[in-house]
Amino acid sequence: MVVVYVCPRCERIYKQRKYCIHHDPPIKCTTIELGHSHPPQSSYSIERCSACNGTGVGLYGNRCPGCRGTGEVKVPNPPRRCSACNGTGINAYGSPHQACHGTGWAGGRPL
Ligand SMILES: [Zn+2]
Ligand SMILES: [Zn+2]
Ligand SMILES: [Zn+2]
Repeated sequence: MVVVYVCPRCERIYKQRKYCIHHDPPIKCTTIELGHSHPPQSSYSIERCSACNGTGVGLYGNRCPGCRGTGEVKVPNPPRRCSACNGTGINAYGSPHQACHGTGWAGGRPL
């Protein structure tokens, strides 16, 4: 079993330190016990929004509906382009593609 320490304020993770020294006074970290072999792994990746290519600007100069203007989206691992809209995030009617939430990534969502 592995124990790590997480600062409740800035959420930094420490392997050995019980206090987060990035604050004055240092903050006592929360102890978290991890399971045996598997290191913590996110099931999502942050990818550049495929619909706007990371610009955050939509097809019509509007705020990109896929990433809500942030240019980044959350995509389940492993990241795959949405095949139905070819990664454009736009359906045949020019509206945000429902299945990929307009992100152009399969299963993608705004952050
Ligand atoms: Zn901290
Ligand atoms: Zn976008
Ligand atoms: Zn799509």
